[in-house]
Amino acid sequence: MADLTLFQMIEKGQIPADFVHEDDLCFAIRDINPQAPTHVLIIPRKPIARLNEAQAEDAALLGHLLLTAQTVAAKCGLEKGYRVIINNGPDAGETVPHVHVHILGGKTMGERLV
Ligand code: AMP
Repeated sequence: MADLTLFQMIEKGQIPADFVHEDDLCFAIRDINPQAPTHVLIIPRKPIARLNEAQAEDAALLGHLLLTAQTVAAKCGLEKGYRVIINNGPDAGETVPHVHVHILGGKTMGERLV
């Protein structure tokens, strides 16, 4: 059997985490090293390594992750907005090879990359 990813170990309860949301396709946890007052990771149960490894068959799942951002934002009180980030590959700073969507909020983010 292939090694579990860090996020699969969290999903199985082998590593503790603060869960914000769970459904059939994904779960969301608070980031252990938050970069904003609210920093949540939305993670598919399917361990796609990174966005670049996703296939056409994953389109609905990827859409679901983005729609789950609405749920997470509502649960976390991010009425004033939030930032959505996916790091893909080493130049982007990807550190966990299991695709995940960062949700950042709770402060005004003045710095812009784009
Ligand atoms: P990335 O750098 O885009 O791959 O994001 C990985 C994220 O996972 C980082 O923001 C880490 O702080 C976060 N992280 C690493 N280990 C844990 C953990 N045990 N629980 C919650 N978040 C974690």
